[in-house]
Amino acid sequence: MPELPEVETIRRQLNEVLVGKKILKIEVLRKSSFGGDPEKLTGCEISVIGRKAKVIEIFFKGIDQMVIIHLKMTGQLVYLNGGKRIAGGHPTADWVSRLPSPHTRVIFTFTDKSKLFFNDMRAFGWVRMVNQKKYENEIRNTAPDVTEKEFNVEYLASVLSKTGRAVKLVLMDQEKIGGVGNIYANDALFLAQIMPDKKSSSLSHEEIEKLLVAIKEVIEKGIKYGGASAADDKFVNAAGMGGKYQDHFLVYQRGGEKCNVCGGKIEKMRIGGRGTFYCPRCQK
Ligand SMILES: [Zn+2]
Repeated sequence: MPELPEVETIRRQLNEVLVGKKILKIEVLRKSSFGGDPEKLTGCEISVIGRKAKVIEIFFKGIDQMVIIHLKMTGQLVYLNGGKRIAGGHPTADWVSRLPSPHTRVIFTFTDKSKLFFNDMRAFGWVRMVNQKKYENEIRNTAPDVTEKEFNVEYLASVLSKTGRAVKLVLMDQEKIGGVGNIYANDALFLAQIMPDKKSSSLSHEEIEKLLVAIKEVIEKGIKYGGASAADDKFVNAAGMGGKYQDHFLVYQRGGEKCNVCGGKIEKMRIGGRGTFYCPRCQK
């Protein structure tokens, strides 16, 4: 499942190539993957590609409509322009193989004949057209994204103090905090030296401050390395594509290995059904 750094990586790459492109047509290959009337966007010019948490936003010039995309579990975006190829999101062979594939749900074709493919194997993801003003109003009421300045120590303290749930579950609760998934929740808690199953309301102010810094740090590092792609994504890695954060995991998927800080053994437990990795010596 693409997490915030993977989504931000493809957003940045698309922003470099899509701004100024005009839509020639949008083909919807799977009806339920697309919401809205695609013909309304014919001829529209892309002004910028944005992001809020894990939602990619495509803005257009001179029209109140915009497109939002959620990759969910297996969504991916692949841009093709002659020999130039950009791919992001869930890594599969479709990043490098001939498109459209059986997983292609939506194809955007631009007036210069370049194309953007939305592929989604399990089809939980979506592409939707929405009214820009309405969307911006709604988004004001959603949880702050961890890369925004509104995600500060006061906000994090207010969220954690209200619940006795395990701190890791609260970090991953998208209704409270936008954009922290399993990988970065594990690594942030290690960096902040906090046990993942610790009761949220029992965290001290000092721990909350450390946690805030740790979350921002691991997310920034994830973005710096282009996100993470699993070691078994052989197609993607063979093509030299995909992120490299997996080479920098602190504890995530490192059960049984040595802790980089104390040399002790990294352990694994399950919280809310998800694999959770921690160092029993470093985290309290
Ligand atoms: Zn340790």
